[in-house]
Amino acid sequence: MTRFIFITGGVVSSLGKGLASAALGALLQARGYKVRLRKLDPYLNVDPGTMSPYQHGEVYVTDDGAETDLDLGHYERFTGVAARRSDNVTTGQIYMDVITRERRGDYLGATIQVIPHVTDAIKQFVRSDLEDEDFILCEIGGTVGDIEALPFLEAIRQLGNELGRDSSMFLHLTLLPYIPTAGELKTKPTQHSVKELQSLGIQPDMLLCRSERFIPAEQRRKIAMFCNIRPENVISALDVPSIYEVPLSYHAEGMDTEVLRHFHMLEADKAPNLERWTDIHHTVMNPEGRVRIAVVGKYTSLLDSYKSLAEALSHGGIANGVKVELEWIDSQIFEEEDTALQSLEDVHGILVPGGFGERGSEGKINAVKFARERQVPYFGICFGMQMACIEVARNLAGVDGAGSTEFGPCQHPIVGLMTEWRKGNQTETRSDDADLGGTMRLGAFECDLSDDTMVREIYEDGRISERHRHRYEVNINYKTQLESVGLRFSGMSPDGVLPEIIELPQGMHPWFVGVQFHPELKSKPFDPHPLFKSFVAAAVKQSRLV
Ligand code: GLN
Repeated sequence: MTRFIFITGGVVSSLGKGLASAALGALLQARGYKVRLRKLDPYLNVDPGTMSPYQHGEVYVTDDGAETDLDLGHYERFTGVAARRSDNVTTGQIYMDVITRERRGDYLGATIQVIPHVTDAIKQFVRSDLEDEDFILCEIGGTVGDIEALPFLEAIRQLGNELGRDSSMFLHLTLLPYIPTAGELKTKPTQHSVKELQSLGIQPDMLLCRSERFIPAEQRRKIAMFCNIRPENVISALDVPSIYEVPLSYHAEGMDTEVLRHFHMLEADKAPNLERWTDIHHTVMNPEGRVRIAVVGKYTSLLDSYKSLAEALSHGGIANGVKVELEWIDSQIFEEEDTALQSLEDVHGILVPGGFGERGSEGKINAVKFARERQVPYFGICFGMQMACIEVARNLAGVDGAGSTEFGPCQHPIVGLMTEWRKGNQTETRSDDADLGGTMRLGAFECDLSDDTMVREIYEDGRISERHRHRYEVNINYKTQLESVGLRFSGMSPDGVLPEIIELPQGMHPWFVGVQFHPELKSKPFDPHPLFKSFVAAAVKQSRLV
């Protein structure tokens, strides 16, 4: 039997609902249950693919090529369950689906309304594509009280009624602000938020209260009484130093125990196996050293735009028993000030992440040049690989006018638009003038690694699969020329047409790798991605030299 846990948020946004859901998923998994996590997003975009990372943070890509909310990254990192297209839906998608059906005449002349048609489509989505999971955790984006969220809240209210209390549970995340002048945690905003939820017909079964301090028993009783729930189900979610401590802290608060009690599953249950999380927590809290890595990008002022990247780097740190300190640098500074490159002198690794557009690209190329010439470990991801190829073309192979057609026509398109590629037995195409929301190479693609290369050794495998999200490709026509100056095309698409990985051999550079895909999307704290593990290991070596 599949049970559904609906997670809503109140009081303010940014309380970490995604993380809370992911941590609960991890706890239920640690009890031996099969879980899946889903996110319902109230905004009207069909997917977050065309949204600016400044507004919405990173776009997380699944194996099956969906561009999704970054919370799916948390879900995957905490549970290891690969997210799918069917795990994230937006109001835009729901409406598109309903309107498409209306145009097709599927509703046989009925008047199409939010209730029941839109809410039915939402309910259908929540219950679709299941595989005998014990628990589906379904997070509703936004905050209770938002106009946009109403159809979703109505849909989960109906689902709760249809499924019954034994198969459904409502968890509400709130904030208990601490008022220093009163010396108290205040419960009123939580009470109001729960009232708002109750006015929509939803009675939460559990409250997860974010607070910077421990919630005294008195306050807990008060919340329980006013909000109509058992005091044991008022769970305090204290701020913790590392996100990977969250499952441990929730468990200590009794969260998983009370969730299972709600579903009458406690008696038959065993204690959870939390070894994975205690080990990670121990390593994170007791690093044996530190390395500094410069991330030279564009969206450096909103760190959510590089969420998975920052996590993957920290996983690389966990694998090497060190703390990875990140320095976020806006690449434009390397275009404007010659002396700016000095800021890279004392870092132990340089990473150019994914990116779009011309702004700051020359600065990134300057950072690659610095890393290559000064023998600093370099990791180029997607755009970072493309910039590395342009740098090598210009400065090692002497190709003047080497560039990317992403920035307009250029004399030597080292990076250009591929109009066609193979995926398995199928040919997929894209064109220059197609809609922005449908022209990228998206999702998992296989890649063959050449023998006697660094990446072959790092992956300990000859064929890998990684996730992509980009329009442009390194131009195969320049392969011979770039190889003649030492660059190796160590990973290629199985048909040999698309360069997937480039590297400089060990004799030329200690660690210089560019990948066309996004390895950060598959890294997990308990299973760090081999490239991040190796890159951080190279940075550790570098730190002993600097
Ligand atoms: N802008 C580049 C492209 O579209 C790189 C994209 C990325 O880094 N994700 O190919």
